[in-house]
Amino acid sequence: MYQYYYVNKNEQPNGDHEVHTISCLYLPTTENRLSLGSFDNCADAVREAKRTFPKADGCFYCCKECHKS
Ligand SMILES: [Zn+2]
Repeated sequence: MYQYYYVNKNEQPNGDHEVHTISCLYLPTTENRLSLGSFDNCADAVREAKRTFPKADGCFYCCKECHKS
């Protein structure tokens, strides 16, 4: 299923920029997030996010299968 993804402009304490779906409870506010676009899986969304933030990682809650660190 295609979902719209965003990446957090701010890094986590470990340096990761988390990738979220539009429906995530932990989606950052408009000014703190960057649009990635629609993807049918989180791996493609994280790959897109890494073009801007090399340390991008899936959110534990909405992108569990892409949460590595
Ligand atoms: Zn999330």
